[in-house]
Amino acid sequence: MILGLESSCDETAVAVFDPARGLVGEWIHSQIALHEAYGGVVPDLASREHLQHFGPLLQRALVVMPASACAKIAVTRGPGLAACLAMGVATAKSLALAWRVPVVGVNHLRAHAFSPFIGLHAADPADFDAAFTKLLPHLGLLVSGGNTALFTIDEQRRLKLVSATMDDAAGEALDKGAKLLGLGYPGGPLVERLAKGGNPTAFTFPKAVAPRVSLEFSFSGLKTSLRYTLEKMTAAEIETRRADLCASYQRAVFEALTRKSALALERRRYRSFGLSGGVANNRTLQEGLSRVAAERGVAFHRAQPAHTGDNAGMVAFAAWAERESGGVDESGLALEIAPSLPLAQGPGDASARGG
Ligand code: AMP
Ligand code: MG
Repeated sequence: MILGLESSCDETAVAVFDPARGLVGEWIHSQIALHEAYGGVVPDLASREHLQHFGPLLQRALVVMPASACAKIAVTRGPGLAACLAMGVATAKSLALAWRVPVVGVNHLRAHAFSPFIGLHAADPADFDAAFTKLLPHLGLLVSGGNTALFTIDEQRRLKLVSATMDDAAGEALDKGAKLLGLGYPGGPLVERLAKGGNPTAFTFPKAVAPRVSLEFSFSGLKTSLRYTLEKMTAAEIETRRADLCASYQRAVFEALTRKSALALERRRYRSFGLSGGVANNRTLQEGLSRVAAERGVAFHRAQPAHTGDNAGMVAFAAWAERESGGVDESGLALEIAPSLPLAQGPGDASARGG
């Protein structure tokens, strides 16, 4: 069994993955409530919380996986906050030394990229490799608070970046929009809830698209446009039209995601399309993207709610799914943290770029 550890940001998480059965247990401690008061994650507080919570979470994991059953330890080595990553990597190395098992470093973004396939494995563990191969080449969309990227997974399970955001991430655009609208943090789910009762065509915001034919994303203009719109309204008007504002703003963000995804699916032949990251929780986005895939005869796979935000299940799973594709760092006890690790390199791009 593989023990997975995750502590890249504000979630302390532990999971046990058995290749023959799937994820047999997942334990997580979220710090959202702690950081809420500051409107964002405070690195010093976050790393202290990881220090406090790994112990109790590991004690619970040891109930389902005795130390003797652990074959490997997988830990997020980046990207993320340095002090937070260090907590996970130090814990993983200590356990590896004590239990005399290998420790490997996982790229958190690649773990997100593979997260839509956790369900495929769970449905038939013995057949995973054959079933997954049938879905390649794959086009994936990762949408989270820090990343927005389209990438491919080829037949050798190699990952390549297709495009990324030139400024804000989609989740960040939703969070910043929510802040302007006087909603709480994180804003994405709050905007979704209010948008349900609103008219998505009530307001026109510039489409959050960089040049039409480009696959790159850009969301900063959209946020500025919302600010101008709100400046022209009275507090009472904003109050009564909040649902329409949310629905229209969310539509502008999602239109960029669905249009660029459709464009990418038309440029090359893919056998599957995947959705991952925190924003993947959004129903409206799920529906829009599954339609885009269905219209082009491409299978649609999305990460399930337990694996959209930060979690250790996807880390343990990726360590296994990527065991032969070169995506896992095997430095062992020499493993280092990599706070700005990119998702992958772009096509023909020798320099590593952020996602
Ligand atoms: P992550 O960065 O993967 O931890 O995901 C957090 C991001 O996902 C934040 O920007 C949230 O606002 C966003 N998010 C979470 N749930 C939803 C949702 N239901 N709709 C839209 N955005 C969401
Ligand atoms: Mg994440």
